[in-house]
Amino acid sequence: MKALVYDTDFEKHYNLIEREKPTIINPKDAIVEVTMSSICTSDLHIIHGQVPRANNNIVLGHEYVGKVIEVGSEVKTLKIGDRVSANCETFCGECFFCKKGFINNCEKGGWEIGCRIDGCQAEYVRVPLADQGLNKLPDNVSDKNALFIGDILATGYFGAEMCEIQNEDTIAIIGCGPVGLCAMICAKVLGATNIIAIDIEQTRLDLAKSQNLATHYINPQNCNLEEEIKKLTQNRGADKVIEAAGANNTFELSWKIARPNAIIAVVALYEENQTLPLPSMYGKNLTFKTGGIDAIHSDKLIDLISQGKINTDFLVTHTFKLENIMEAYKTFEAKKDGCIKIAIEK
Ligand SMILES: [Zn+2]
Ligand SMILES: [Zn+2]
Repeated sequence: MKALVYDTDFEKHYNLIEREKPTIINPKDAIVEVTMSSICTSDLHIIHGQVPRANNNIVLGHEYVGKVIEVGSEVKTLKIGDRVSANCETFCGECFFCKKGFINNCEKGGWEIGCRIDGCQAEYVRVPLADQGLNKLPDNVSDKNALFIGDILATGYFGAEMCEIQNEDTIAIIGCGPVGLCAMICAKVLGATNIIAIDIEQTRLDLAKSQNLATHYINPQNCNLEEEIKKLTQNRGADKVIEAAGANNTFELSWKIARPNAIIAVVALYEENQTLPLPSMYGKNLTFKTGGIDAIHSDKLIDLISQGKINTDFLVTHTFKLENIMEAYKTFEAKKDGCIKIAIEK
């Protein structure tokens, strides 16, 4: 089968090559025919050598949708022919953290697929602990509809959920990249009526606007962000902030634009440590929460998509065939032609 493999021996550290089709290794495995996959910024981090725990010579990719073609003897909830979405983190469902619903802290799992073991940017993928890793899709949810359930949509939902949204809350969301846009969609689903979208890239703000994802759109390059937020919140600051950008100054911005007693949900991934200048925020009574990817809500998200309450199709700005995935990587990395997310079709 064709597979996009990460290997530091390759000139660009990744290449589309022929690989053996995967087989069942463990009785809890399933083999999935990948009908659609995507490329994540984390894949770029691997090929740039920024993910020390990534194994060399593995198939990349952890965002995908497919069809079950083989199940191990201990797989209980799936059968051959099921259409499924996938959680990018592997989890057991049985350990201390899994039982509490904190599945991305699973003692036996974590980011395995496309990092420690072969991923989904291939014709087929082996999915360990498949009962937990895969979620069945109803007929009215297409591959494209379901592509982001297990990673960026899960992260956006997690961010919005951490905000404990109440009526009339003003939610400021920093970053209109894929995760920020998903957070806006989910904040609305969870009842937010005032959403402020913030990004320094005007095209991304415009995309959010074209989808009517927020009530206000602010480009901090054109104004003083703190002042603008105050104008919109009777001088108080945002009730809740979701930091989904992960740029050099955005963690600092997240607490600066928050009102006293706000919740700040940090779902961004940073390349460097961030400082928490406690003296200057003393008395502001802020609550910081962190995390992401927690795909515990996959079935709920599938329901919301099926009911037409969530639609992330607009995030797919480009589509490529698997045989052209090298070109797709270039397009994604360069954000060519307004690229947000790519769908890779078989
Ligand atoms: Zn990812
Ligand atoms: Zn577990």
